[in-house]
Amino acid sequence: MINILENISLKRYNTFGIDAKARYFIKVHSIDDIFDLLQTKQFQENRRIILGGGSNLLFRSDFQGLVILVEIKGVHFEGSTKSNTILKVASGENWTDFVELCVKNRLYGLENLVSIPGKVGAAPVQNIGAYGVEQKDYLHKVEYIDSTTGNIEVVDKDECKFEYRSSVFKGNLEGKAIITNVYYELSREWKPNINYKDIKQELDKFSFVKPDAEYVLNTVKRIRKRKLPDPLDIGNAGSFFKNPVVDESQFLTLKEKYPDIPYFLSNDKYKIPAAYLIEKCGWKGRSVGNCGVYDKHSLILVNYGNASGEEIYQLSENIRQSVQEQFGILLEREVIVVE
Ligand SMILES: Cc1cc2nc3c(=O)[nH]c(=O)nc-3n(C[C@H](O)[C@H](O)[C@H](O)COP(=O)(O)OP(=O)(O)OC[C@H]3O[C@@H](n4cnc5c(N)ncnc54)[C@H](O)[C@@H]3O)c2cc1C
Repeated sequence: MINILENISLKRYNTFGIDAKARYFIKVHSIDDIFDLLQTKQFQENRRIILGGGSNLLFRSDFQGLVILVEIKGVHFEGSTKSNTILKVASGENWTDFVELCVKNRLYGLENLVSIPGKVGAAPVQNIGAYGVEQKDYLHKVEYIDSTTGNIEVVDKDECKFEYRSSVFKGNLEGKAIITNVYYELSREWKPNINYKDIKQELDKFSFVKPDAEYVLNTVKRIRKRKLPDPLDIGNAGSFFKNPVVDESQFLTLKEKYPDIPYFLSNDKYKIPAAYLIEKCGWKGRSVGNCGVYDKHSLILVNYGNASGEEIYQLSENIRQSVQEQFGILLEREVIVVE
């Protein structure tokens, strides 16, 4: 039996801690719950947003539609190949719990992605990544319910069109797909992926020949704890902007003016850390009213307690404007703004 609630505060359902209200709100615990929901007039007559852990969203104001909180649980063995194991993971599972479960069961690949807040169902949406790994590197396929037809569909890895912080779920399937299960193919053989600068530096402090998976997992947790604000202490949604990618000629012009500009080469293009651009514009550590830019990481916008979604949105727009004026680059948001 599903239970659609009305006028519910979303404060505890988003990591910015924005006290926006949802006109309608429902928790779905199973695929059958979703099928029941599709038949309701609240579903059919309203705009909808699907919510996992609310760690990549900004509610700009009250949401005059239906918020669907996915709470489907379960991790199942799906099959194996010579060296890999495939797991079927329900979309309402906590991402970090899942990564830890894998390591405990000697299934490897996702350890660098530990401590990314949120649920499994959102991982493919923006193709989460950290420390040189993206979830696409281990994804097998995604199952979703097409809310326009009510059918269960499956897309394999290629059809997901994964890119840097993007996928088909932010493209053609946006607003249509309710992800129900994500399948990951993990390796039973431990091959550490520890070339990323931060991890390497941390491990170099100790003279490991080959750290085990648990050690890498704990190292990543430690680095993240040091660098990133915990949403339980201070509201935030991680990196607010994507790192912009520019072509060679634009990069060379910038380099002439800013010789210290950092970059990573990616497919013959230059990816520039948005944090550098924001810092150069003088935003790092600055507060504006109830919100501001985190003092240890200028890509993260923070809520000091009572900020409204609109305040944070305006701050983000002001940052975009100054970066555009100074560097000629329009930053793209990583966080999804829900209007
Ligand atoms: C402190 C902090 C650190 C972070 N670090 C990283 C990082 O290192 N790398 C990184 O990539 N991200 C990072 N993030 C962002 C965030 O954790 C990820 O994007 C995460 O995957 C969001 O999961 P969620 O369940 O909270 O999704 P939500 O914020 O609830 O939703 C995000 C999007 O996914 C959609 N969605 C969610 N569930 C489903 C579903 N079942 N079906 C269809 N659509 C769905 C939503 O509609 C929305 O569009 C960080 C965030 C914070 C707060």
